[in-house]
Amino acid sequence: MALPRQIFDTVIVGGGGSGLRAALQLAEAGHRVAVFSKVFPTRSHTVAAQGGIGASLGNMQEDHWLWHMYDTIKGSDYLGDQDAIEFMCRKAAEVVYELEHFGMPFDRNADGTIYQRPFGGHTQNFGERAVHRACAAADRTGHAMLHTLYQRNIRARSQFFVEWMALDLIRDYEGAVVGIVALEMETGQVVVFQAKSVILATGGAGRIYHSSTNAFINTGDGLGMAARAGIPLEDMEFWQFHPTGVAGAGVLITEGVRGEGGILINSNGERFMERYAPTMKDLASRDVVSRAIDQEIKEGRGVGPEKDHVLLKLDHLGSETINKRLPGIREIALKFANVDPSREPIPVVPTCHYQMGGIPTNYYGQVVAPRGSNHSEVVPGLYAIGECACVSVHGANRLGTNSLLDLLVFGKSAGDHIVEWLKTNPQHRDLPADCEDLPLSRLARLDSATSGESVSEVGRDMRRTVQHYAGVFRTGTLLREGVAKIREVAERVGRVAIQDKSQVFNTARIEALELENLIIVAEATLTSAEARTESRGAQSREDFKERDDKNWLKHSLWYLEGGRMDYKPVNLDPLTVESFEPKVRVY
Ligand SMILES: Cc1cc2nc3c(=O)[nH]c(=O)nc-3n(C[C@H](O)[C@H](O)[C@H](O)COP(=O)(O)OP(=O)(O)OC[C@H]3O[C@@H](n4cnc5c(N)ncnc54)[C@H](O)[C@@H]3O)c2cc1C
Repeated sequence: MALPRQIFDTVIVGGGGSGLRAALQLAEAGHRVAVFSKVFPTRSHTVAAQGGIGASLGNMQEDHWLWHMYDTIKGSDYLGDQDAIEFMCRKAAEVVYELEHFGMPFDRNADGTIYQRPFGGHTQNFGERAVHRACAAADRTGHAMLHTLYQRNIRARSQFFVEWMALDLIRDYEGAVVGIVALEMETGQVVVFQAKSVILATGGAGRIYHSSTNAFINTGDGLGMAARAGIPLEDMEFWQFHPTGVAGAGVLITEGVRGEGGILINSNGERFMERYAPTMKDLASRDVVSRAIDQEIKEGRGVGPEKDHVLLKLDHLGSETINKRLPGIREIALKFANVDPSREPIPVVPTCHYQMGGIPTNYYGQVVAPRGSNHSEVVPGLYAIGECACVSVHGANRLGTNSLLDLLVFGKSAGDHIVEWLKTNPQHRDLPADCEDLPLSRLARLDSATSGESVSEVGRDMRRTVQHYAGVFRTGTLLREGVAKIREVAERVGRVAIQDKSQVFNTARIEALELENLIIVAEATLTSAEARTESRGAQSREDFKERDDKNWLKHSLWYLEGGRMDYKPVNLDPLTVESFEPKVRVY
């Protein structure tokens, strides 16, 4: 079957912060850019980001990009690549000021400069004390950023394909990526989009967990597309649990609350973080705070009838500060926990929030898929940015505010790299004859299945399996069992059937296609976590409690084919400064 075809210079899969930042760079350079999104771009998950964008502007206190770099490396538990981290921290001020000039409505200080608040793990002078580094627009920073970038893209004439779902990458016989196949969600029409370069910017896959701060669209489609095209997934064992999801609801309460002075207390009313992180206390990095909460609950100092959460107290900040700096948080607390935070504390519990791993890239956003011992071999024409990518600047644990920064820095960098690359690669490469086969066979299987399990049942079992076997604390026995269980679920995914096609045909089809991506991410997560026999950042193993730099200062790579694992070294060489050698991590 010959599908309809369209041609662009660059196809970007994802209209969140990273996709829009890259699109802007390309469209302003005069390129024909197509941006695909499953939802209207300004509903992409970036819209939910609350607390801020990390940049050492020094508007409120002395700050320096090198301190930001140190904090990021330490936060990553030394698994972050130091070249990429230096690149990001040095560029931070530039991309934030650009955003300001694009019209971003940041909060302001009395002198007109951008308001900055403290965030977990961000310090002055290499860990001495907390620093105000998060550039904020109240507690709706992502909302403001996404709208600013979208408007700017409209002006630059980026072309949007809204409510289109990319299904698969097209690779030619030499391995170059030459386009995508995508499906219009409303009509079910499938189209081939040929391009000189493709950027994956599909966001996170937090929906592999039962309890998650992520939107329902965060289904790891880019990771599924990459894995099916033979590209490995890097560091998938590292999932960030945000310390403060609303208990029972999963909705996020930004770390900005603790940045503004909120504190965590247990059932005795004790500010327990003083015991776990004497210097940074409630503003220690997220993996540390999440583990501390879990420990308090395990030792019986949890709150509520089930003693299964702790409390976030902010009434002492006063209604004026809460209404001015944290209006969205007040609304969330009222709606999802039925408490007014200016009077009562909010019940909170660690909740899956962010994937540190993803599609391996360098700091130009080029996808790097090792062949043999060559760990820096790029896939021509393919880029990945934002949460779906692993640059790796977040290593084993991301610092709050470093994701929005990552979107801006690497979105821009990928755009710049493509502009240069296309100067020497100006032609479209030919599409291979079989370019439609993979996505069409996936659709044909779903459309022809007349009986089988429902997508929602299998999806629920996948989420519960990952939640149970790959939570905050892990053991070898638990993980081995988890790998076996998730493989059983994966087999069931291959047998799902769409129920009641007459009523909800395309919606159900989309959910089935998303589940095919989610299960890939879930398998990668459990397999990589089982293989890593150490504790580092977000991977906390009760049977291997210590970080093991001798054997594990390396990135994991999981391949879909055979579920095979491989490894590559961490880059400890920054671009211009001396490296930060791994040390014991205390806050
Ligand atoms: C509640 C919350 C608060 C946060 N607060 C902060 C914060 O204060 N600071 C910070 O730095 N980070 C924060 N983060 C993290 C940060 O918001 C995200 O990591 C970041 O916004 C992800 O951006 P992205 O561009 O990678 O993807 P997204 O914004 O998630 O966009 C993904 C895009 O890809 C599209 N897409 C996906 N699959 C397909 C497909 N198959 N076909 C077509 N389109 C597709 C989607 O429609 C969407 O447009 C927060 C995260 C959450 C959940």
